[in-house]
Amino acid sequence: MSKKFDVVVIGAGPGGYVAAIRCAQLGMKVAVVDEWLHKGEPTLGGTCLNVGCIPSKALLESSHLYAAAKNDLSGHGINIKQVGLDVKAMIARKDKIVSELTQGINGLFKINKIKLVHGHARVSPGKIVDVSDRGSPNTRESLEAEHIIIAAGSSPVRMDRAPLTDGYIYDSAGALEFDSVPRTLGIIGAGAIGLELGSVWSRLGSEVVLLEAMDTLLPTADKQISRAASRSYKQQGIDIRLNARLLSAEIKQKKVHVTYEDTRGAQQIKFDKLVVAVGRKPNSDYLFGDELGLEIDEREYIHVNSYCETSVPGIHAIGDLVRGPMLAHKASEEGIMVAERIAGQQSSVNYDLIPGVIYTHPEVAWVGKSEHACHSAGIPVSIGTFPMAASGRAKAAGTTEGMVKIIAHQETDRILGVHIFAAQASELIAQAVIAMEMGASAEDIAMTMFAHPTLAESVHEAALAVHNRAIHIKN
Ligand code: FAD
Ligand code: NAD
Repeated sequence: MSKKFDVVVIGAGPGGYVAAIRCAQLGMKVAVVDEWLHKGEPTLGGTCLNVGCIPSKALLESSHLYAAAKNDLSGHGINIKQVGLDVKAMIARKDKIVSELTQGINGLFKINKIKLVHGHARVSPGKIVDVSDRGSPNTRESLEAEHIIIAAGSSPVRMDRAPLTDGYIYDSAGALEFDSVPRTLGIIGAGAIGLELGSVWSRLGSEVVLLEAMDTLLPTADKQISRAASRSYKQQGIDIRLNARLLSAEIKQKKVHVTYEDTRGAQQIKFDKLVVAVGRKPNSDYLFGDELGLEIDEREYIHVNSYCETSVPGIHAIGDLVRGPMLAHKASEEGIMVAERIAGQQSSVNYDLIPGVIYTHPEVAWVGKSEHACHSAGIPVSIGTFPMAASGRAKAAGTTEGMVKIIAHQETDRILGVHIFAAQASELIAQAVIAMEMGASAEDIAMTMFAHPTLAESVHEAALAVHNRAIHIKN
């Protein structure tokens, strides 16, 4: 096969593999270069499938069922004498799901006739992608491309004060692999990873403490929602300490001794294991040399415009490697946009409507503007909220915690933001994204018929509440 391609994609995560498939669907000759190895074997899917979205959700599901069996089923009249836990089996189930999905991408590449090259890619001038073995300076093969899409993703930020140490200090990937439940677990960072993995191990029995440097939890979420979520996590026994900055982490007598500083001064605490989850950084190292002229910003993101075009014509960059939230669906949508634009179509991504979800229980989900963002921007708003406690379906399911909040423009009634803290908020938010993509008003949702009994009716009621006419609560 010739080494010349219409498009060479670097990275087979949700940005790269989706871009490659869309390019192939549009008739382009495509190659993908990816360097991910799992137990020495090449595997596709990047962070999301291997050590991110999918394995974390598999463990969230398993741990939720375990906690429900232990704590909630008796309320349904179901008595289980003894609920056992087999962590190794739980991890094996997670690994099987990951393996099936990553193999699925191999299948999709075959169907779409995408050439897969395993190795480390480096972009050279003249739109050449040189492939080498990891760690080797020698180029094994070179691919020539009309267009290059860089989708090299991101890696966990490391902390010198808490270096990864097998058995004691882990990153998020390590925290998906514990083969037993640590009695005490510390997590540095109460962002998406801290909250999700903290939930997993807390449900399985760990005493979990999250040390968060900022003074608020989930600062990008609506304040009313993040306050409700904070209260709920506390009730679940997850100890979140704000304004807490790590000073040191030392391993002594088989424990991780952590010193951190908060508003009261230096504090000490020890854990069986510690997880560092303080964000991720773009994988822009060793991808290209200065001679390419590709601009990166001060935080090492590849600089792109709203169409993901870099400073070098013919080279695009997408996903975690470029500005915007580090989310799989954002990476994939950018991949589709770039593929279609290369094919001459006028595609774009609506960066104002990227849904965010934190998969705790209940889940936090939002899209669009928060109440405080509207106030800061001087936008007049009408707000409708509906508590899950008033939903018949939530009562039947025993998931009455939380609320739906809809923010509409006071004059035009156009929906500006939807914020949910509820069971299945990740599913409920999709209808808000669709409504907002269509430019819907709160009245549009209010006039729509929803099946009864569903959790989705709470979205309907919140839209009615915008105009003080919700049926099942006092307006
Ligand atoms: P990646 O998925 O990181 O893929 C990049 C690929 O490029 C990798 O395979 C890498 O090996 C390869 N690569 C890098 N450099 C080179 C090179 N020079 N040559 C060849 N190959 C290279 N997001 C969500 O939307 N929802 C979630 O629920 C969610 N949960 C998460 C949970 C965890 C624990 C973590 C860590 C992340 C989670 N994320 C979630 C974030 C999500 O995983 C990322 O946003 C997403 O994977 C980014 O996709 P990407 O294609 O840009 O990069
Ligand atoms: P994050 O940015 O969501 O959270 C990191 C947290 O660590 C922040 O709250 C930050 O204030 C805190 N922090 C930073 N330095 C600290 C320090 N020295 N001491 C204490 N706290 C400190 O990052 P993450 O949780 O590591 O996740 C990485 C990326 O993966 C995120 O961008 C996120 O979008 C993505 N992700 C998404 C999901 C999801 O969509 N459900 C799940 C997991 C991860």
